Amino acid sequence: MRYINNIFTIEKCKLNKVLKKFETPIFCYSGRKINENINNFKNSFKSFSPIICFSTKSNSNLEILKQIKKNGLGADVVSKGELMIALKAGINPKKIVFSGVGKTRSELIYAIEKNILLINCESKSEILEIENIARSKNKKVDIGIRLNPNTDAKTLKQISTGKKENKFGVSEKTLVEVSEYSRKSKYLNLKCLSVHIGSQILDYKPYQKMLNVLDKLIKKIDLNFDYIDLGGGMGIDYNKDNKKFNYKKYNQIIKKFLTKHKTKIIFEPGRSIIGDTAILISKIIYIKESSKKDFIIVDAAMNDFMRPALYGAKHKIIPLIKNNKMTNKKYDFVGPICETTDKFLTTNKFQKLNEKDYIIICDVGAYGSSLSSNYNIRPKLAEILIKGSKINVIKKRQKLEDII
Ligand SMILES: *Cc1c(COP(=O)(O)O)cnc(C)c1O
Repeated sequence: MRYINNIFTIEKCKLNKVLKKFETPIFCYSGRKINENINNFKNSFKSFSPIICFSTKSNSNLEILKQIKKNGLGADVVSKGELMIALKAGINPKKIVFSGVGKTRSELIYAIEKNILLINCESKSEILEIENIARSKNKKVDIGIRLNPNTDAKTLKQISTGKKENKFGVSEKTLVEVSEYSRKSKYLNLKCLSVHIGSQILDYKPYQKMLNVLDKLIKKIDLNFDYIDLGGGMGIDYNKDNKKFNYKKYNQIIKKFLTKHKTKIIFEPGRSIIGDTAILISKIIYIKESSKKDFIIVDAAMNDFMRPALYGAKHKIIPLIKNNKMTNKKYDFVGPICETTDKFLTTNKFQKLNEKDYIIICDVGAYGSSLSSNYNIRPKLAEILIKGSKINVIKKRQKLEDII
């Protein structure tokens, strides 16, 4: 994904040509980049060959999931719908883990019937519910238990999940109780200890702390787990300032951990696999000048791409065609929705823009289309996947008639 002769190009497709066939706003992925990311991720940890369960909530497009499956990955799901789509993509149930604090009885029944690898439980009540279902089916169910390690992930507070004030996982005390309970149960097989401390983590040190907590706890309670599920959360370089997650360091820390504990590692990466594989192309509808800044009103909005409005996340915006006429004008890139938070970014330096120009919002592969909504009765966007010079429509633009 780079400029060739000032035109943004994905693999062998110049985007100005692509837009002759497609309307904006539109999500546009690079198939090659997805494969590259998966290979890099696998290579980073190849000495202990972990089970890699792609976090389906980060991107649940069926065609994307099929490509991820082709690369041998499993799935981490958080609802019945995600479990259904992962299975539809052909992912082996024995590579699927089910996370989440509020799995309903019918979701648990479905997961148990599908014989997935693990249901990662997040409360005593959930474990009792699973035991109750398992008893009625006279079946032994493989479960994991998610620990809240009370570790600060040093990320945005809205996407931090591993501190004791967060709703996720159970305390050490509860973990000891439920592990003793499930050891005695005829219907439960406690196989996994899981953690997930948050998302967009760029520093390896929170993971180091998390592993120290696990190390001490496992020694203390003297339990063996077939699996340790370390969750996901590895961050990507949204700001393009070369703050990259140190995979080498993380690999070293885990290897050290594995010299003390014989277990299989599971990862649940989402963003690190899919985040930088897609862009959102949008067209400028109007430019509204004001005394302090110009409002660049584009056809994409917070319902299409919610991260800036939801978390204050900053995604780089670049022109589709560079004109090399820079201006120091302040630009506010905003969408058409009737909310003040419907704003993508403010820039202090950008090329001179005109109405009908195209812009690109970068790194929208994770929590982009999967987090989109129909707010303001706006149809969900088309998604295209580029592979070399081929363009595949992997989701059609929703029709207004289908929403109304
Ligand atoms: C969201 C989530 C992930 C994926 O997080 P990323 O930051 O996208 O890697 C993994 N595991 C669980 C339990 C999650 O909730």
